[in-house]
Amino acid sequence: MRPNYSKELDKEIQNLSESGARPKLLLHSCCAPCSSYVLEYLREYYRITVFFYNPNITEAGEYAYRLEEEKRLIREYNRQVEEHDLSSMNSTGAAEKIAILEAPYDPESFLTAVRGYEDCPEGGDRCGICFALRLDAAARAAKEGGFDCFTTTLTISPLKDAARLNETGMRAGEKYGVRFLPSDFKKKNGYKRSIELSRQFGLYRQNYCGCSFSKRERESRNT
Ligand code: SF4
Repeated sequence: MRPNYSKELDKEIQNLSESGARPKLLLHSCCAPCSSYVLEYLREYYRITVFFYNPNITEAGEYAYRLEEEKRLIREYNRQVEEHDLSSMNSTGAAEKIAILEAPYDPESFLTAVRGYEDCPEGGDRCGICFALRLDAAARAAKEGGFDCFTTTLTISPLKDAARLNETGMRAGEKYGVRFLPSDFKKKNGYKRSIELSRQFGLYRQNYCGCSFSKRERESRNT
C-alpha cells in the first residue's frame, strides 16, 4: 500500500506538540507560492530556514524574480511575527521568524544533469533527475548546516509525484545522514490554501514549472 506521507508528517507534528521540541528544519523551496502554505503550516513547529536552490529555472530573469518573491514572502511572514499580527493567518501565534539560505545560481548543473532528457514530458524521467539534483543539494546543506531535518515544498504541486519526491528525499537523507521529513503538502487543502495565500500577498504565480523545456511544453499546449 502507498504510504500516506501527509499523515506521517501530521504524526510527527503531533509528537512535537506533545514534547515541545522545535527542531531546525531546512526547507527546500521552489518558489514563493508553493512555500506560502508550507511555511504557514510548519512555522509553528520548526525553526525554519528556506533553502533556495533551483538551477532548473533556466532563465536568469525568471530565477531572479522567483527568488525576490520568495524573499518578499519571508519578509511578510517575519513582519507578522515582529508585530504579533498572526490573526489573519491559520496560526495559534507560536510562529517564529524564518531565515533564508540562498544557493548560488547554477543552471549549468541542471542542464548537464538532464542532457538527453530534454524532450521528456513534464512528470517523466527529466523531472526525476531534477528532483534528485535539488534534494541532494538540500540534504548536503542540511548536514553541513547542522539542521535536524530537511524537506521540500515540491509535494504541494498536483503535477508532481509525491511518492517519487519522498523516496528521492529519503535516499538523499540517508546519503548525508540527515532526516528527510515526509510530506504531501497538497493534501488537507494545502494546494488550495497556497492559491489563497498567493492572492493575499499578491505573489507572482508562474504558469510553467521552471525549465525552458517545461515552458516550451506549456506554450505548445496553449497554441
Ligand atoms: S518540468 Fe519542472 S521538475 Fe521537471 S525538469 Fe523541468 S523544472 Fe524540473
